[in-house]
Amino acid sequence: MKRIRRIVRSFRPSKPVLVIEVNKADYYMAVSNYFLLAILFVDKSCRKMPTPAVKALVLHELIHLEDPTLSERGVDLRVIQLGFKEHLISFHRWHNKKFKKYKRKDGLTLDEILHE
Ligand SMILES: [Zn+2]
Repeated sequence: MKRIRRIVRSFRPSKPVLVIEVNKADYYMAVSNYFLLAILFVDKSCRKMPTPAVKALVLHELIHLEDPTLSERGVDLRVIQLGFKEHLISFHRWHNKKFKKYKRKDGLTLDEILHE
């Protein structure tokens, strides 16, 4: 959790982001936006994730927070535009070793990211 809080701070979110760990969620991370603060829910499975992958996921969630109108794919594209393409690739490689690959509706696929 310390690592994730440090990463969140490094992205300088526009409001305080409380980081809460959850167990066996059907997501790695999810963000809820409230009036004065946001809560980032982080599944325990992220403990074993390499730091670049965690950075890509935190940034993804913070982009949702700053622009709720963006689609999953739009958010991933923004992650790449901000210079975190390699981090996003690191996440997909880690994820694909264990689970089904992302489909287009889930966000950008690894193949799309590699060719972006
Ligand atoms: Zn998302």
